[in-house]
Order: sequence, then structure tokens, then C-alpha cells
Amino acid sequence: MLQGKFIGAEETNTFALEKKFTAKAVKKAVLEITALGLYFAEINGKRVGDAYMTPGFTSYNKMLQKQTYDVTDLIKEGENVITLNVGEGWYCCGFGWRRNFWYGKKSAVLAELDLDGTKITTDKTWTAKESYIRYSSIYDGETQDFKTPCKTLTACEVEFDKTKIVDQICEPVKNIERIKVKKVLDTKGGKILDFGQNLTGVIEIKTPEDFDGTFTVKFAEILIHGEFFTDNLRAAKATDTFTVKGQRTLTTEFTFHGFRYVKIIDAEFPISSITAVVRHTDLKKTGSIEVDNKRFQRLMDNVVWSQRDNYLDIPTDCPQRDERLGWTGDANAFLKTAAFNYDIRKIFNKWLADLRNDQGEDGTIPVVAPDVLNFKQCAALWCDSIVMIPWKLYEVYGDKTYLSDNFDAMKKYLSAQERNLRNGIVGEGFQYADWLALDGETYKPSEHTFGRTDVFYLASAFFYHCIRTVEKIAKILGNKEDQKLYNKKGTELLKNIRKEYFTPNGKLAVDTITAHVLALAFGLVEDKFKERIANKLNAEVIAHEYHVTTGFIGTTYLLFVLADNGFIETASKVLFVEGMPGWLYEVDMGATTTWERWNSLMPDGNPNPNGMNSYNHYAYGSVMEFVYRRIAGIESTSIGYRTIKICPYSVDQLNYIKGEYKSVRGKIVSGYKKEGDKITYFAEVPKKIKAEIWLPGEGKVAEGSGKFTFERIVEKKEEKKD
Ligand code: BGC
Repeated sequence: MLQGKFIGAEETNTFALEKKFTAKAVKKAVLEITALGLYFAEINGKRVGDAYMTPGFTSYNKMLQKQTYDVTDLIKEGENVITLNVGEGWYCCGFGWRRNFWYGKKSAVLAELDLDGTKITTDKTWTAKESYIRYSSIYDGETQDFKTPCKTLTACEVEFDKTKIVDQICEPVKNIERIKVKKVLDTKGGKILDFGQNLTGVIEIKTPEDFDGTFTVKFAEILIHGEFFTDNLRAAKATDTFTVKGQRTLTTEFTFHGFRYVKIIDAEFPISSITAVVRHTDLKKTGSIEVDNKRFQRLMDNVVWSQRDNYLDIPTDCPQRDERLGWTGDANAFLKTAAFNYDIRKIFNKWLADLRNDQGEDGTIPVVAPDVLNFKQCAALWCDSIVMIPWKLYEVYGDKTYLSDNFDAMKKYLSAQERNLRNGIVGEGFQYADWLALDGETYKPSEHTFGRTDVFYLASAFFYHCIRTVEKIAKILGNKEDQKLYNKKGTELLKNIRKEYFTPNGKLAVDTITAHVLALAFGLVEDKFKERIANKLNAEVIAHEYHVTTGFIGTTYLLFVLADNGFIETASKVLFVEGMPGWLYEVDMGATTTWERWNSLMPDGNPNPNGMNSYNHYAYGSVMEFVYRRIAGIESTSIGYRTIKICPYSVDQLNYIKGEYKSVRGKIVSGYKKEGDKITYFAEVPKKIKAEIWLPGEGKVAEGSGKFTFERIVEKKEEKKD
């Protein structure tokens, strides 16, 4: 266990702690450090390591990460100084849009510097003083002052249970990419810098030698009618202020912004001295989709960008407004897409630990993890994450510890939902329903929309799905008793769902698209009625002229259900539908990331009048999973990609698609290329994977591993007459 004390400053939560020490020639110097808040360390004026937003965001009072750095090269013989800069971060800033959640009221830092076995640890003999970072807030931005001398402060000890400290679990947040100003726009409201990409990160500005003064930087995701627009940041001030004399490269440490546009107030700098630094968790890329259709490629790139922008230490909903929380439903909907694009094992090891740690005594699960809203429920898709996310990770990576680590929490959660049963189906409890669906309001009138699908049908469907999942998990873990128990509970629930929601002739009593999607996705329909339900779904989608009206829940499953029930043609038309609502609509409106609502920006160029308009939300980006699996055709048919099905599907809008995925068993490639009336399907399967290759209209054409190509004549699709 680390020896020192957590040290804060009595006067403020943003400060620096300093210690001078002498050293002989050291063979090895190691710094172990953590904070209640955020920290970065400097030794002799040099930054230690390249990680940001350390020690990371966890449910601190239950688990606090520490980092370990080899600092041998930073120590010199003789006099040295170590400086620990501290900010509030997620710990003590009053987090959440209500600004009312504190893990503690006092920030503090704990460090142990080991010089060949001699330890220097934080205690009250260290000097606390103001840091050049005078104030910092994740939502509001950072104030830095390099001119006014830093006052000395009073160091104080802060109590914290050190047994909660663990080693860093996931990849650190780093500076990932640097983006130059793409355009300078002259607007009524002044000059705006356009970086051409909505991103998460910070600004870096190099002031010239003759600069002397204070300037402010503001951030925006979007222009509305050509003007800088920050209303959608809600109460997040997202403003950085710098006071500086002379040449200095400025950037912020304890805040981040979601932005594409920047406005500098009270100063003007050559654009060559201004850079946007993309900052997020340093995940390894594992997959990509490449197509020859520019608009569709932009959509795929937008999904990847929204993932990057929202994977900043935890999977968040958005990176810009006064929220940036670990919303469980969003993470669940997007999980498989995320796992195609990046290796997400470690970030979810960490986040699932928070989800478990923050589970209620009664088994309920927080709607955001870490639970800064103090809101634990049994909401379908959201709270079901405790069952569904470990299962999905197991499917992708084949690692059973996802199941064993979370099994008890899953069972406790199912018991909590069981208490909401009324007449054998879920009939009580809070739900987010088919969040943001455009098919009308039935749940709770508010500025948000919960869609028209009966919430307790949704909740019962997800509960059924979760029970069956836990039954499977019990079997895999060799727990026969639980397997039997959940089998019985599942059978009983299914019987009750059918009784309540299906007529004896197999008509579904809830008439929305999402209701029909879930009936098929979760096996609620009797086999003999499947066709009827699928036909009805297909007819409804056509009646909507292929425009998506589903919310977070329906959208995650819609295209798969269509495709897997004989209507892949309909699914592909939804995927490429022109106009609003539809995925390409936002691309045509200039999006460089995916939006929260189908209509976050209205066709007239105004933001959605209901507010809550994030232009960087990944939930609807879950469509990329469909592109990987049903268009490029990379489908795993067993746990951890031991066996796969390659099943590309050619669509009129794409003459070329290449899907690539580095699975745990090696790299898989699949796609096609059309030239004239010839189409060439291609695939690459690593040795450790056994593949079946299926071609549209032909079924299985080959199996095994290695490289495959198949040439065919492009099928002319018949024009249908109405
Ligand atoms: C968030 C979401 C989240 C939702 C839950 C919003 O404020 O941004 O994406 O899932 O609330 O209702």
C-alpha cells in the first residue's frame, strides 16, 4: 500500500504541491501517484508521462486507480523538485447536469517517489501553492495565469480509505491526433476557426513573443445559420481563459471540450499557431469499413469519430454539454459496433467494475456508471447492461471472466426486476422506453420523447431476453441449479408475455415497429406466427417509406430483424434512405459525428426546438454493426470467432465495400467490388478460424480458411411496379 498521505490545499481544490529533494545518481526512480480529483506531475519542470485526466474516472469511494511511472530519466544528481498539479475533475466539481454530485468536497493528491528504495511520500511538509491552473472544471473549462505570482497555500491532510486504490485498469487518455485549422470564417459574431471535424479534446495555442494579456477561447460543435452556436452545451460554459506574457505553448489539462469550431476573444493569432488536439482513451483499432460511396463513407467515419469522442476513460453519451456521463443504455446499444472498431476489453473491464460497485443493495443498476445521478433502476436496455454487456463481450472475445465476474450482479438485478412483475409481466418501475423514437408519445409527457411503444411490453421483452441470457451463462459456468431456475422463469414469463400481448392468431397488440422488431429479435413470437409478424413489420417500414422512426431500442435491432427474416432488401433501403429521418440525412446536413436525435438539426437548419441536441452521440451509430455483419458480411457463428460465416450482400449504392476486423483469432476481411456487370466477392480468413462462405442467392459456396474470390455477373434487380 502507498505510504504517504492524501494532501489538499485548505483554500482551493485547484492547486500545486511541491517538494524539493536532493538525489545521488539513481539507478531506478519510480513514481506511484493518484488523486481525489485529477493530477499531473512534473519533475524539474518536465511533465511525467503522456497520460491525461489521471487517475481516471471511477466510482472513487469504491475504487480509485493509481498510475506508476518510471521517472529515472527525469531525476538529476543534486537538487530536484517535484510538482503535483491538482484539479477537481470528476471527483469534487458537483458533477452531472444538476451539478450536485460530489465524491468528496476536497481534492487531494497522494504520491510516492521511490529512488532506489528511498521513498519520498506526500505529507504536510510539502508546499501547497497556487498552480498556473487557477481554476478548472470539466464542463466549464480552465483558467490559466502565467503572469500573476502563485500564492502559497495551506497544505492539509484529506482522509481516504487507501484500501480502495487499485492499479490502472484500462488504456490511458492520451493526445491521439493533431488537427490544423481548416478554415477561418468571418461571421456577424466575429472570426470562427473551423477544424473540419467535431472532436473531443483541447486547444493548443502558441503565443508570439510580443504577446502580453488575457484571452478567452470558446468552443462549439455546430454553426446555426452560419453563426457560432453554444445553446446545446446547456449550462456547460466550455470556456478557457489564458493570461500570459511572451511566447508559450498553451493547452488545458483538467478539462476537455467537444468541438469543431473555436472562437478566440480578445486576441488574434496566426492560424499556424493554433491546433486542435484530439484527446481520448488510447484504444487499439481493430476494424474498418471502406466503401466507394462518399456519403456513406462519411457516415461510417462519423460513427468511428463519435466512438472516439465518447470513449474518454468511460463510455459516455456526449462530450460537450453538462452531461458526459456513462449512460448504460447508449453503451449497450453501441457495444458490438464499438467492439468491431476498437479493442474495448480494458475500458469495459473498468466500467463494468463501476457498474457492479454502484449496484444497489436491492439489485437495481445505475442508469449511468459511475453513478453520479444517484439513480438506480431496472430500465430496459439501460440497466440491462449488467447482463447484456458482459454477454456481448464474451461473444466477441470468448473470455469467460466477463460472465463469472458479473454473474452474481446479474442474478441480483433479475431479482430486482422480478419485484416489478404484475400479472406475470413487468408492470412497474421506471423506464426510458424507446428513447427518442419519433413515433409519438405515450409514456411521460415532457420535452423528451419516449416513443409510442408500450413501456411495459419493452421492459418485459428485455427482461425475458436477460433471463434467457443468464440461463445460458449459468450453463456455461456449470451452474445447473441456476440454469434450471432461469429456464423455468423464462418459460413462465414468455407464456405471460404471449398471453398479454399476442392474440390467439398471432397478431401483436402493440402496433409499433419497435414492438414487432423486439418480438422477433428476442424470440417472443411462436414459430408459426413469425412470418405474420415479419410481414407486418416489413409492410410498416415500407408504409413509412423506409424512414426510421425507432428510438434507441428499436433502432439497435431493426435492420438485423428485417434482414434475418427475409427482408434484407428493405433493410438496405432503410440504411440508404434519403431525407429525414435517416442515417444519411445528418451526413447531408454536414455532420462529422453522429447525432443524438434523428432531427437534432431540423431540415430548415434550426436545432430541434425541444432542446437536448447533442451532435456527438453514438447510440444510432449502432448501425455500423449491421454494415460489418450483413453488408460486408463478417458474422461470427460461435463464441470468440472460432467459426464464422462470410455473407456479403451487394447493394446498389455501393460498388465496393471492404470490411476488416482483427478478431481475437486473427484478421478477417470480406467485401465485394463491382466492375461493369461483374462482381467479385473477396474474403480473407485466418488459419485459426473456420469459415463458411455464403453468397447472396446461392447459399454456401466454400468453407475453410485462407483467401477467397468469387466472380459473378451482377444480378439486375427487377423494377417493381406499384
Ligand atoms: C443522455 C442519453 C441517455 C438518456 C437517458 C440523455 O440525457 O444523453 O443519451 O441515454 O439521457 O434517457
